[in-house]
Order: sequence, then structure tokens, then C-alpha cells
Amino acid sequence: MISVAEALERILAGVAPLGVEQVGLDVAHGRVLAEPAISRLTQPPVAVSSMDGYAVRAADVATVPVVLRRVGEAPAGGSYPHPVKPGECVRIFTGGPVPEGADAIVIQEDTDVDGEQITIRESSLPGRYIRPAGLDFSAGDELISAGRILTARDIGLCAAMNQPSLTVRVKPRVAILSTGDELVNPGEQPGPNQIVSSNGVALAALVRCLGGEPVNVGIAGDTEGALDKAAQAAKSADMLVTIGGASVGDYDLVQSGLARHGLEIGFYKIAMRPGKPLMFGHVGSTPMLGLPGNPVSALVCATIFLRPALMKMLGAAEDIGESTLPLAAALPENDQRQDYLRARVEKNADGESVVRAFEKQDSSMLSRLAQADMLIVRAPHAKAAEAGDSVQVIHLQASAFRI
Ligand code: AMP
Ligand code: MG
Repeated sequence: MISVAEALERILAGVAPLGVEQVGLDVAHGRVLAEPAISRLTQPPVAVSSMDGYAVRAADVATVPVVLRRVGEAPAGGSYPHPVKPGECVRIFTGGPVPEGADAIVIQEDTDVDGEQITIRESSLPGRYIRPAGLDFSAGDELISAGRILTARDIGLCAAMNQPSLTVRVKPRVAILSTGDELVNPGEQPGPNQIVSSNGVALAALVRCLGGEPVNVGIAGDTEGALDKAAQAAKSADMLVTIGGASVGDYDLVQSGLARHGLEIGFYKIAMRPGKPLMFGHVGSTPMLGLPGNPVSALVCATIFLRPALMKMLGAAEDIGESTLPLAAALPENDQRQDYLRARVEKNADGESVVRAFEKQDSSMLSRLAQADMLIVRAPHAKAAEAGDSVQVIHLQASAFRI
């Protein structure tokens, strides 16, 4: 058995960043930027007003009240084409360009209008309510770095920079095969002793959420020959993920079934719980991750190993959303396997967030996993911990909502 850290290191060494493609802004959300986004223009392009009011010469309104003559207007998208002379003002609106000669804005609430005669009741200082050219950014500025998983905000910024398309990483195609004679597809009627395959669709959703493209290879029965279709799918995929059959039981045939197709095995046992029987290797040049069949094990292992592997393939600079929280209740000493406890966040009597592990941690219990907010990480041989002790946690919701 190898440690989680060593397994992760070997998996990351076994995958490489994919190629790039050009996509339009309308489909760029959630994609990983492969080349920095550089602005093609300056924003705002000229000095503009941030309020509705009057563009004035600050010196003219140093003493108030004072009456100025309105000589024209500067709406957003228009302009007043002459210099503003002493004693003059120009009606201006938010986003309207500040005319030459004017150096301050008086907001309309501080004025009285009588035809072209504008009484200014409050003075203003040079620069007041003026957004100078380039306040937001300038042409040539590198505003988003490569490796960023693009948010809705980034998309808006790219549009403002007049970048209608972006260079992003190709989505990793992840072929997913479930194994087991006991499995039927969701919606089918399970026979006696059969269960519904939950892992395949859950992993497909996870892969999509991580920026990959799942390819459903279906369910293979527990025969070596049934693995042939996984080997076939691996040829056109960037990663092959199998579920179940990775252990040492008589029906655990993933290793031998893929060996017929040249599987080169890296390792197949990790000191972690849930998820000891985890396999990593290559089928041809395609990396292969063999996840354990228990639904919680499969999804926790995918969070710990598949997620960083896909992040590397995508060239994404993101962490997994780890932090620390105080415990709501004591935890016993840990054994030699790194533990990932399903847990919920709650408030203690002082209103502070604390994390509580579910009492039952069986690796078949999907209901608990779905209710969990996070995983508490317990290192091998971690000492018993008291309520209030700080523990390492992995947020399960970290990337589900990305604006
Ligand atoms: P295995 O790793 O094949 O020994 O499977 C371990 C446990 O996980 C068994 O109880 C299987 O029935 C269950 N299991 C395997 N694959 C799936 C799946 N795709 N969906 C739900 N449960 C599964
Ligand atoms: Mg099985």
C-alpha cells in the first residue's frame, strides 16, 4: 500500500496537459484559459462622467451659488464638440464624455434649471465624478492569466476588452465503464440480487463539473472479455475510468481483463479510507484510473485523484478548496489509513461554524455523501481529537457554483 500523497504524485506524473482550441465567449464559461487574455482597447476610452449633471470648470463653481450658461449636451455615445469656456456648462449623463475645458461634474440634484440658465448650488473639485480614460484597464493589459477557469465575470471582462473568442484547453474526454454482474442502468428494473448502477452517472456529472467530457461506456459484466469495450474506448479517450472490480476478489477482473490489452499497472492499493483498492496505470498511451465500486469510495477517490488529474490535463491553476474548521465533537485516534470522513457544517453555541462527522461512515452510503458539505481529512495515525480542535476539511461544494 502506498500513501495518498505518493499515489497523487504518481497519477499527476502520468498525465499531461492537453492541446488548445479557440472558442467564442458564448461557450467559454467554465473552460480553462490556455493563453492570457490581453485587452485590445482602453476602458473607458476617454474621460467620462459617472453621474447625471453638468460638466463645469471647477474654478467657475469655487464660490456658489453661481449661474452658468448651458451650451450643449454630452450623452453617453455622443459628445459636445467645443471647448467649455468660462461661465459655460454642458449637460452630461453617466458615461458621457467630459468635454474639453471642463474638469468637474456637478450632480443634477445640486442645480436649478431655468431654460439655459443653470444655477449651481454646490461647488465641485477638479476630477469630481469623472472616470479618467483607462480607469478600468488599458490596451495591452494582461487581465486574465492562463490557467484560470473562466467565470461569468471573466466572460464580461473579455467582452469589454473586445476579445470575442478565447484560447482554451481542449476538454479531456473521460471514458467511464461500470463493472459488475449485479448492475442495471438507472430506470431499469433490477432483478433479484441486482442494484442500480449509481456510479457511472455520478462520475459523468463530476467529470462535466470539472470541465471534462464524459463518455459513457456502459456496464460490463464480470468476465475478462467484458473489459474489451473499455480498452476500445480508451483508444479515443484522454482518460479511462473503470468502476469496481479493482479489488482482489474472484470477480475483480479489471486488472486481468485490461492486461490482455497491454495495461501497464502503476499501483493498485492505497492507504486510504474509503477506497483502498484504487488502481492507476496506462492502456496504450491512455492513463487509466480504476476506482473502487462502493459508491462513496468511487466519488471520494474521484475527488482526491481524478479532480487534480483533470486539472493538470486542463492546465488549470485551481486548488481543491481545502481549509480547516473546528470539530463539533471528538474523533477517535486513526489507524494507518488516511481517512476522509463525510461531515456537515453547523453552528456552535457561539455562532461559529464547526464541522461534525456523520456517525455512520459506511462506504456504501450515498445518502450520507449527498448530505455532506465536506470531508474531514484524518492523517494516518492521527491522535484522538477533541471538540474544538482544528481539522483539515475538503469542501465538496467548492466549484459547483461559479459566477
Ligand atoms: P467491487 O469494487 O466491484 O467489488 O464493488 C464493491 C461494491 O460496490 C459492491 O457492493 C458493488 O455492488 C458496488 N458497486 C460496484 N459498481 C457500482 C456502481 N457502478 N454503482 C453502484 N454500486 C456499485
Ligand atoms: Mg464488482
